[in-house]
Amino acid sequence: METVNKLLSIDLNYIFIGMIVLFYSLEQILSTQFKFNKRPQHLGHNLLFQVAFYVCNIFYATVTVFSIAWLNKNQIGLFYLIQVPVWVKLIIGVAMFDMVSYWFHRIAHRVPVLWRFHRVHHSDTSMDASTFFRGHPIESLLWFGTSNILAAGIFGLDLMSLGLYFLIATPFFFLEHANLKFPTWVDKTVGLIFTTPNVHKVHHEQDQYYTDSNYSDIFILWDRIFGTFKYKPPEQIKFGLKEFENDKKQTFWYLMKSPFIRMGRVTSEDLKKENKFS
Ligand SMILES: [Zn+2]
Ligand SMILES: [Zn+2]
Repeated sequence: METVNKLLSIDLNYIFIGMIVLFYSLEQILSTQFKFNKRPQHLGHNLLFQVAFYVCNIFYATVTVFSIAWLNKNQIGLFYLIQVPVWVKLIIGVAMFDMVSYWFHRIAHRVPVLWRFHRVHHSDTSMDASTFFRGHPIESLLWFGTSNILAAGIFGLDLMSLGLYFLIATPFFFLEHANLKFPTWVDKTVGLIFTTPNVHKVHHEQDQYYTDSNYSDIFILWDRIFGTFKYKPPEQIKFGLKEFENDKKQTFWYLMKSPFIRMGRVTSEDLKKENKFS
């Protein structure tokens, strides 16, 4: 428990900085999977999202801590009905935060008003590790923040499990978006249980048939169990959304206001028709 406590005392922001420096360098040095134009500008726009997230999170982190502490104080949730060792509670806790987040993510693809915010994450036409930062702060904090509070309320999870969940999920987030080549045997082994980079990239494919799949952050098991797992070889993937295929629509300011701009979602059918005539 001592080690877990020590790990949890590390500020996540330092991990974010360390990870982006590491992956940005690796993507510069190693052979990458996709061709890239204007990397520094791309990084700049995505980093602005992280700054916006950081500023808004000062408020939302307080709300989350306060809400979960209140739920725990009133002993709300399944874990208060049964006696289990702390380590079991921690492992199951991480899995349950991940499962509730899976459902919130899936709903964000289905409900139009939520998709308006979530499509910001999918808008990136040239993906690298910094794409993880690209998420509208209203969605990242309000929607996914609610997901964590709800998971804590249903299962009786505490802040320690939430800290551990973030600690485990963060390296996944960077790896899943990194513009690096990953062999397909990883998908056939580790990928039976965990979300691998190639599998998350299918989620960023332009064609809605694939966009609406592989919602899990850590455990791909949720997609396998709930029937949303799909696969496409990484070399065939085209990133982004047709609606955002324009340099002017890839800037921080445009993307920040984009949830308030009406634009129809391009379906798989629309895409097929468009490709036929072009
Ligand atoms: Zn998504
Ligand atoms: Zn993603």
